[in-house]
Amino acid sequence: MERHAYDVVVIGAGGAGLRAAIAAHDAGARVAVVCKSLLGKAHTVMAEGGIAAAMGNRWPEDNWEVHFRDTMRGGKMLNHWRMAQLHAQQAPERVMELEDWGALFDRTDDGLISQRDFGGHKYARLAHVGDRTGLEMIRTLQQRTVQLGIDVFMELTITDLFKDPSTGPGRAGRISGAFGYWRETGRFVLFEAPAVILATGGIGKSFKVTSNSWEYTGDGHALALRAGASLINMEFVQFHPTGMVWPPSVKGLLVTESVRGDGGILKNSEGTRFMFDYIPEFFRAETADTVEEADAWYDDKKSNRRPPELLPRDEVARAINSEIKAGRGTPHGGIYLDIASRRSPDFIRKRLPSMYHQFKELADVDITAEPMEIGPTCHYVMGGVEVDPDTQESAVTGLYAVGECSGGMHGSNRLGGNSLGDLLVFGKLAGEAATSYATGLGSARPTVADADVEAASASAVAPFGTEGGENPYSIQADLQQSMNDLVGIIRTAGELERSLTEIEAFKERAKAMTVEGHRQYNPGWHLSIDLRNMLVVSESIAKAALAREESRGGHTRDDFPATDHEVWGHKNLVVSLDDAGTGVVLSEKPLPEMPDELKKYFETAPAEPKKES
Ligand code: FAD
Repeated sequence: MERHAYDVVVIGAGGAGLRAAIAAHDAGARVAVVCKSLLGKAHTVMAEGGIAAAMGNRWPEDNWEVHFRDTMRGGKMLNHWRMAQLHAQQAPERVMELEDWGALFDRTDDGLISQRDFGGHKYARLAHVGDRTGLEMIRTLQQRTVQLGIDVFMELTITDLFKDPSTGPGRAGRISGAFGYWRETGRFVLFEAPAVILATGGIGKSFKVTSNSWEYTGDGHALALRAGASLINMEFVQFHPTGMVWPPSVKGLLVTESVRGDGGILKNSEGTRFMFDYIPEFFRAETADTVEEADAWYDDKKSNRRPPELLPRDEVARAINSEIKAGRGTPHGGIYLDIASRRSPDFIRKRLPSMYHQFKELADVDITAEPMEIGPTCHYVMGGVEVDPDTQESAVTGLYAVGECSGGMHGSNRLGGNSLGDLLVFGKLAGEAATSYATGLGSARPTVADADVEAASASAVAPFGTEGGENPYSIQADLQQSMNDLVGIIRTAGELERSLTEIEAFKERAKAMTVEGHRQYNPGWHLSIDLRNMLVVSESIAKAALAREESRGGHTRDDFPATDHEVWGHKNLVVSLDDAGTGVVLSEKPLPEMPDELKKYFETAPAEPKKES
C-alpha cells in the first residue's frame, strides 16, 4: 500500500481543484492534487464562452449588485444568497489575478479585458478567450500549480473517504483521509489528511445525451454522501439548449451560447423565429418582443431590450423541446441555429473559431454558410454538496466541496459563465479555510483505521470475485437511457416513479456485476467503481425530482407546470444516505433569510416567481 500524508488533499484538477490547491499552498499547507485523468484534461478545459465577472469594461453601469441580482433571478431565487453575493463581489478580482498569472484574455478596443453577452446577464460580462476560455484558464492554473511545486497525482481515482473512528459517525466524524487506485497499475494508495476538498465536477454521464466527458460520474457527490454529508438542489439539472444532434457519434456535444450572444437566432422547420412565443412573464419586462427591437439590441443595447434567444437556458431549452415535440423540428430531430445569415464569415471565424471547426470537421457543416442543427443536452448539475457559503465546509468536519460538485450557488438554474467564476471564487475560499482548519489541529490529527482501509480495498476488487454477473457497460447503458427517458428535460410523477423502480433494479444488477481480467489498466473495472456513484447520484436526482411538485429552473414537471412560490419558494430538498447506506432519503430545509440590504435589489421587479406556467 502506497501511503502519503498531507494537510490538505484536493480531489479534482479542474478550475475549482487547482484554484483551491493554489490557495491552500499559499496559506501554508502541504497540499496534494489528485485527478483521475491527466493534468490539464479536466472538464474545465472544455468551457467555451467565458467567466462571468462584473468588471464593467464594456458597461460601466455593471457592478456586483447587478450581477448578484441576475444570478438570483436566473436561479429563480433558490440560490444561497450569500454564495451569490460572494461570487458577484469577488469574481472580478479572481479574473484579474488570472491575468496576473499569465492568462491572455481577448481585449476591448481600448485594451481592457473584453466581455461578451450571455443569457440572463443584463450586461456583457463574460471575460473570454475566443470560445476557448476554459483552455486558457486551465493552462494558467496548471502552470502556476506546477511552478509552486504542488504535488499532483494524475490518473489516480479516489474511491473512498475515511473518518477518524474515535470521533463517531455523522456530524461528529472528522475526515482523516482518502483512498484510491492508480488507473494504470491498479495499485491502491492511501492519503492521510485531516482536510479533503472535493472538486470532482458534475454528473452528466448518468444521462445518454450530454455535453459532459467520461469523468463526470458524480464521484464527489457520492463520496460526500457516503461520508455523511448532504446534497441540495439535486432535482435541478441543466439541459443546455444547444447541443449537436448530428451525426449520432457527437450527439450532445456543446454548441456554445456565444453563438446566440454574437447574433445567432433559433428557427423551426417552418422558418419561424419562435422564441418570441416563449417569453415568460418573469422576464417579459426586459425581453424584446419584436424582431426589430431584438435585432436593434446588438448595436444599441441602451435603447433596446435583449433578444428572447438570450433568455436563461432553462427557458430556451424548454422552448426548443416544445417546438420539436410539436413536429416543427429539423430532419435529425433538432432545431436550426442560424448565424450564417446574420454575420459575415470573417466575423464568425474570428469570434467562434472552435464552433467553426467543430461543425466542419464533425458534421461537414460550414456554419458561415448554413444553419446548425441543435437540440437540448444534459450539461450541468446545479445540485451538489451542501456547504457553508464562506468556507465551503460540508456537514462533515474537514470535508469541503467546491465547483460543480457543490450546491447552493446557482439555485434552480445556473447562468452561463457563472460556473467558471464559481470555481475561482470558492476554490480560493475553500483552500484557505481547509488550510486554516488543518494547520490549526497541531498534533491532534485524526487517524485512519486499518479496518476501513481493508474494507475499501475489498469493496474495490469485489467485481473480480463475482462469477457469471453482468458487464458494467450494459448496466451503464441502460441507466443512461433510463435517465434520459424518464428524468430528462420534462418530467412526470409516473415516469419518475418508474425511474426509481428501474434504478433499484440497476442496483441489484450492479451488486452481481462481473469484471474480467486483472487490475492493470482495466476500464471495465474502473467503470464498475464509477457506476456505484452514478447509481446513488441518479437516485438522488429522481427522488428529489419526484418530491418537488412544481416547475422551476432546471426542473420541469408536466403534471405541475406552475412555479408554486407559496409551497416551494422558501425551501430546499436535502438528500442524505439512508441508514442502511444503500439508498438515499429526502428532507426539507428552509432557505436562509436574505438580509434586507440585499432584498432591495428585487424591489423594482417581481422578487420571486408568482404562480407562473
Ligand atoms: P472539472 O473541471 O470537471 O474537474 C473535475 C476534476 O475531478 C477532474 O480533474 C477529474 O479528473 C477529477 N475527478 C473526478 N472524479 C474523481 C475521482 N473519483 N478521483 C480523482 N479525481 C476525480 N461554464 C462557464 O462558466 N462558462 C463556460 O463558458 C462554460 N462552457 C462549458 C462548455 C462545456 C462543453 C461544458 C461541458 C461545460 C461548460 N461550462 C462552462 C461549465 C464548466 O466548464 C464546468 O462546470 C466547470 O469546468 C467544472 O469545473 P470543476 O473544477 O468543478 O470540475
